[in-house]
Amino acid sequence: MTKGNGEDPKTGSRMERIQQGVRKRTLLAKKKVQSITKDDVKSYLLRNAFVLFTVIAVILGIAALDSKASGKMGVRAVVYYMSTTIIAVLIGIIIVVIIHPGKGTKENMHREGKIVQVTAADAFLDLIRNMFPPNLVEACFKQFKTNYEKRMFKVGIPSNDTSTVASIISNVSEAMETLTQLKEEVVPVPGSVNGVNALGLVVFSMSFGLVIGSMREQGQALKDFFDSLNEAIMRLVALIMWYAPLGILFLIAGKIVEMEDVGVIGGQLAMYTVTVIIGLLIHAVIVLPLLYFLITRKNPWVFIGGLIQALVTALGTSSSSATLPVTFKCLEEINGVDKRVTRFVLPVGATINMDGTALYEALAAIFIAQVNNFDLNFGQIITISITATAASIGAAGIPQAGLVTMVIVLTSVGLPTDDITLIIAVDWFLDRLRTTTNVLGDSIGAGIVEHLSQHELKNRDAEMGNSVIEE
Ligand code: ASP
Repeated sequence: MTKGNGEDPKTGSRMERIQQGVRKRTLLAKKKVQSITKDDVKSYLLRNAFVLFTVIAVILGIAALDSKASGKMGVRAVVYYMSTTIIAVLIGIIIVVIIHPGKGTKENMHREGKIVQVTAADAFLDLIRNMFPPNLVEACFKQFKTNYEKRMFKVGIPSNDTSTVASIISNVSEAMETLTQLKEEVVPVPGSVNGVNALGLVVFSMSFGLVIGSMREQGQALKDFFDSLNEAIMRLVALIMWYAPLGILFLIAGKIVEMEDVGVIGGQLAMYTVTVIIGLLIHAVIVLPLLYFLITRKNPWVFIGGLIQALVTALGTSSSSATLPVTFKCLEEINGVDKRVTRFVLPVGATINMDGTALYEALAAIFIAQVNNFDLNFGQIITISITATAASIGAAGIPQAGLVTMVIVLTSVGLPTDDITLIIAVDWFLDRLRTTTNVLGDSIGAGIVEHLSQHELKNRDAEMGNSVIEE
């Protein structure tokens, strides 16, 4: 409040400070609301779903097999993963060469966003490092396991002028703002799911499961424990599924609200989007169902019909890993796939088998070459197919991970990595479609591996005197 002819400088500055404080709080509140629609929901789903499910499911699945059976099943799964990924890459390459969406100069294109550089060596070393976490507990909770984590540690409450409560509050808000900005720069690393070292947990759970499986009667108590824990979590998921459609609605609505640039997407970008959609459709609607039919001689559409809930969740979350609990549920409860198979192949599949991502990586790289009028020779196309396969294996099962590992593909043939910004505008949408394809690929893989492993499963049943892992 001002009095008399002028403004009391003290009161004025206090008012300013209060106003500044209010502005800051409003800004923070806005950020909080935004992140509730995106980051918090995603983070909750990703972290909890992955840690709980992966560890328990893998331990149980592997413990229920003997090492010979799991070895054979593993080989089948890897052969399936590799062959479908290579088919997907080839579809991507053929379709983008035929349609040629990148005709014209790149000056017409709209650029936005920034990209973070990741080298192939970085990605590969991160992948290996994350397979063997030095500390398991840390692997479950550590937020950022990248080069960027160094930057995170620099963030703290600035130490200057901490004498008054107001300045402490203002310093905290500044630190929080910086933290939010830095968080946006952090990129997913291979094998990590939203900061959780998923790959490390999978490797640990597999080893633990193998040991429990080899212990026979002595391991029974542990098996029973994980079994009943698993049952409790499954029931929890059934409850959460009631809330999922609402969460998905907010996730997509939040993204659409953010997209101010729908009107400026150029013709090339629209053609690129259509090309990716056609490629993904060919793989998801023709190749995968055909493969399922040829190997199992069963109706693929009945199988895919049982996966609807998982496919819709993948579409909504853009994350194979977050969808994992629902994929388990659909495969086991609706399609009746043996739990020993799903628990063995799904968690690994969600991390390394990404047909949609592989197809997209190859297609997008060639699109960027076309936009730059860069003629790729046969050798370079082969290089793209190999690196696209590797990049899809390295990509984590989280939103837009494929966009980051694409740097590897572009670098391998000397294309400008900055041009990833050309496709960022539509990636939020294409990511949903490729994630759905990824989840479909993992699920059909589980169906095929089960069919091919009947013999081992029956043998094991006879040995153990039970038919499947008890409900
Ligand atoms: N979002 C994809 C997934 O979770 C990965 C990608 O970005 O392609 O499967």
